[in-house]
Amino acid sequence: MYFISTRGGEKVTGAQAIVQGLAKNGGLFVPETFPKITDEEMSTMAEMSYPERAAFVLGKYLGEELGYDYLKESCEKAYSSFEGNDPVPLVKIDGETGLYVMELYHGPTCAFKDMALTVLPYLLKKSCEVTGIDDEILILAATSGDTGKAALEGFRDVKGTKVAVFYPDEGVAKMQRLQMTVQDGNNVFVAAVEGNFDDCQRAVKRLFASEEFNAELAKKKTRLSSANSINFGRLAPQIAYYFSAYLDLLTAGQIEMGDKIDFVVPTGNFGDILAGWYAKQMGLPVRKLVCASNRNKVLADFFKKGVYDVKRDFHRTMSPSMDILVSSNLERLLFEISGRDAKCTAQRMQDLAEKKEYSITEKEKAILDEEFFGGFAREDDTVEAMYEIFDEYGYAMDTHTGVALAVYMKWEEARKKIDEKDATPVIVLSTANPYKFPQDVLYALSGNDVKDSFKGIKRLHLLTAMKPPKSLLDLRYRTPRFKTKVKNDLNAMAALILEFADGKIVPTPEEK
Ligand SMILES: *Cc1c(COP(=O)(O)O)cnc(C)c1O
Repeated sequence: MYFISTRGGEKVTGAQAIVQGLAKNGGLFVPETFPKITDEEMSTMAEMSYPERAAFVLGKYLGEELGYDYLKESCEKAYSSFEGNDPVPLVKIDGETGLYVMELYHGPTCAFKDMALTVLPYLLKKSCEVTGIDDEILILAATSGDTGKAALEGFRDVKGTKVAVFYPDEGVAKMQRLQMTVQDGNNVFVAAVEGNFDDCQRAVKRLFASEEFNAELAKKKTRLSSANSINFGRLAPQIAYYFSAYLDLLTAGQIEMGDKIDFVVPTGNFGDILAGWYAKQMGLPVRKLVCASNRNKVLADFFKKGVYDVKRDFHRTMSPSMDILVSSNLERLLFEISGRDAKCTAQRMQDLAEKKEYSITEKEKAILDEEFFGGFAREDDTVEAMYEIFDEYGYAMDTHTGVALAVYMKWEEARKKIDEKDATPVIVLSTANPYKFPQDVLYALSGNDVKDSFKGIKRLHLLTAMKPPKSLLDLRYRTPRFKTKVKNDLNAMAALILEFADGKIVPTPEEK
C-alpha cells in the first residue's frame, strides 16, 4: 500500500512513511486509499485477543510489506508490557444511558501514548530492514508531557536508534517531568525548552524540514524519524482500539453488528480522534466523534464556526497534554474533507503559518457537522464532571478524561434534544492514569489540596482504593539525570541534537 503527502508531490510505501515520519514538503503521509474491514472480518476479530486485533488492523496497511506474522509477534510483545489481563479494558459506567470508558492507560508510562509507542519500535525496525536503511535513526519528539516519556521508554536501548525529547519547561505536570528527566538508557536525551508546546512542536517540525540540518546528520550516518502522531506508524496502532471497543460491546451483547456508537475523545494534537475517524473510513459503524477540548478551545471553535484561528491567549490547564493551539493532525482531516486537494491543504497550512488562521467552505463544514461534535470544558466544568462520576459511580479518572466527561455531558444534552429516546452507546476514551496527576485529581474528587505529588498519591489511594502504579511511586526515590534547558531557538536546539548524535552528551549519572 502506498502513502501520499497531504501537500502533494510525494508517494511512498508504508515502510518509507514510517522511517521518514514527515513528508519532505512538510505534509503528512496518508494512505492512498482506506482499506476496509468487513462484517465477516469483524466477526473473526471478535474471537481474537487484543494484540491479534491490533495486528489485524495494522496488517491492512502494512501487512504486505512488513509481514502479518511479524506484526502479530510485535503486538504480542508490545502489549505484554501492559498491566492486567486486558491491555484495554472497557468499563461500563452506566448501562442505562449507555456510558462506557475505554481505559487506554495500562501501559508502562501510564498514558495512552503507550498504545502506539510500545509498537512503533518494532514497526520502525522492520521498516528500516525492508527499505534497506542502515543509518542510525534519531527519533526526535516534541511532547506536551506524555509522548516524551512513552517514546523514551519505547526506544530505550533499542539498537540502531537514539531518542531526543523536547518538552515545554513550564508546560508539563510534575510527574510527567520527573518521568522524563529520570529516564534510563544509553541512547536517550531530554531537554526543557523555554516556551509552550506549540513552540516545541513548531521547532521540531522545522528541523525535520531543514535540508541543512538533515545534511549535517547524514554526515554522521544518522537520519531523523518522528514518534509524534504526525508519523503514520504512531497513528495506525491507535485505529485498532476503536475496533476493539466495538467488538467488546458486541461480544458483551450490548450491541448488534452494524449498530452505530459514539466516541468521546479528549483532544490535543488531534491524533487520537483522527484514528477514530480512520476507523470509520475502514468501515467501523461510528455515528459521532465528539472532540473534547479544554480551555484552549481552538478546535471547539473550529467545529462551530469553520474558522481555525490561533490568534488567542494560550492557557495552562490541569490537562497539560491538551494545552495545544496548533493541532497537527487536523491537516489530515482537512485533506480528506477538501476531496483530497493537496494544493488547497498546503495553502491552508501556509495561511495558518503566516496569517494565523484559515477557514473552510460551507460544504466542508457540513461534512464536519455530520461527523463530529466539538465541545470544550472550563477547569471548573472538568472538576465538576470528575466529582460527579466519582460520587455517583465510584469511578476515578484523570484530568484529561475529566475534560472528555464534561464534554460528554454536553453531548448527552445535545443528542437528547435531537431525539429524547436516543440510547446510542457512548465510549469515552480515558487517556491517562489518575495517579499521573494526583494533586489535581485529589482536589477534584475530594476538595483536598496537598502540596506534594506523592502525598497526593497516598491520599488518592485512601480515597479510591485504586492501586497506584509502581513506576510512579518509584519516581520519589529517583534523581533527575537530565537538567538541560534550552532557549526556544532553532539553532540552539539543532546544536544540542548534533552533539547528542555525536555521543558527546553524557547525562548526569543517577545518585544512589
Ligand atoms: C496526548 C494526550 C491527549 C491528546 O491526544 P491527541 O492525540 O494529541 O489529541 C489527551 N490526553 C492525554 C493524557 C494525552 O497524553
